[in-house]
Amino acid sequence: MKIQFLGSAKEVGRSCILVNDWILLDAGLMIGKEKAEYPEDFSEKDIKAVFLTHAHLDHTGALPLLNHLGLRCVIYATKMTRAITKILLKDSIHIEELKGNHPAYTEENINNILSYFTYTNYNRDYEEKGVSLKYKFLDAGHIPGSASVLIDFEDKSGQRKKILYTGDINAIDSNLLNGLNYHKKNSELKNVDVLICESTYGGRDHPPRAEQEKEFLSTIQRTIDKGGSVLIPAFAVGRSQEIIMMLAKRNFKVPVYLDGMGKKVTDLFIKEHKFLKDGKLFQKAVEKVEFVKDHRDRKRVVQGQAIIVTTSGMMDGGPIMDYIKYYYHDENNAILLTGYQAEESNGRKLLEHGYVDVDNKSYNVKGLVKKFDFSAHSGQKELLEMIKAINPKHLIINHGDPEESEELAEKSGMINVHIPELGETIRIS
Ligand SMILES: [Zn+2]
Ligand SMILES: [Zn+2]
Repeated sequence: MKIQFLGSAKEVGRSCILVNDWILLDAGLMIGKEKAEYPEDFSEKDIKAVFLTHAHLDHTGALPLLNHLGLRCVIYATKMTRAITKILLKDSIHIEELKGNHPAYTEENINNILSYFTYTNYNRDYEEKGVSLKYKFLDAGHIPGSASVLIDFEDKSGQRKKILYTGDINAIDSNLLNGLNYHKKNSELKNVDVLICESTYGGRDHPPRAEQEKEFLSTIQRTIDKGGSVLIPAFAVGRSQEIIMMLAKRNFKVPVYLDGMGKKVTDLFIKEHKFLKDGKLFQKAVEKVEFVKDHRDRKRVVQGQAIIVTTSGMMDGGPIMDYIKYYYHDENNAILLTGYQAEESNGRKLLEHGYVDVDNKSYNVKGLVKKFDFSAHSGQKELLEMIKAINPKHLIINHGDPEESEELAEKSGMINVHIPELGETIRIS
């Protein structure tokens, strides 16, 4: 069996793994500051099936380019993954255009890709008879619709092989989703040949979630009490909705607004509520929130005290860029970051140096700036628990910075453990 890492090897981004030259696991891109980076060369491959773990662009963003290069095969994913992928891919073409880049593909490539999807439900056995491939999707707890993929196929030698590819996983319960627990009671995972495991937090544990949430809500309360407003930059998919559910637990005396792409995603989550932990509770939380209609509506919103949840999560675009201009100068206001802030991002600049850049101008933020950990990835403890429960014959660690992957490999205690280099092919007999 050949497993080639076209991306997400010793890095986070552009997950793209080719198995035996014909099965593709994810097809993501790396969202760069200047332009997108695609997986290593895959142009001459004869791919017959693509499995998508979830909709984030670092797992799906290369699909339109692949179609441009000739990809015409079936794409397996959950219904929710397709719906979010549609929103994100259509947006990604505009992001590239805004950056002044000529996208490597067209709107037509996106539409083509969307037509190749086949819906796959969780915990159901599927079979592709012609190519002797069995597969199953397991709930990964990362974002709505996310899955780990178990594939079972006949190798060239005629032997059957089983690969479990985690994709991005989270075993910690949130308000929006239950954490993954498929490793706990699942006898078919007892004889996995290869486990390909993400390692975003392979070297670290998360602080207790309940405490983070408590501190988050009381920081908001303190800001409101002294007359300030709260800006909450949040990723559109999952994080914005998780924040809305947290906010709904308190009755703040000021309006809560949602702006940016998170609005579209929120509507989708209401429609496809069976992918959530508690659809009714989510609906109730959303009823307490007002959607900001457009650019003009923003001017009304900033007149009074407010709590504003908006994209982008790293403050590199989206409505947050507008809000900053209204709120940066008041020391009573607060900006609460809710996720990972990449190096060079505005969010990181704000955390480390106290300013953000908007339209080539720097704004020194006077109010409180604080970062919270509401990560949608398992920490080291949960990753190790899962690896030990599955106890695969081979463990391959990807989707992490080198030090994160290395620490997870060491702590796993596994003998057959690999951390692939970018482009490397791992051969397993
Ligand atoms: Zn993800
Ligand atoms: Zn990812």
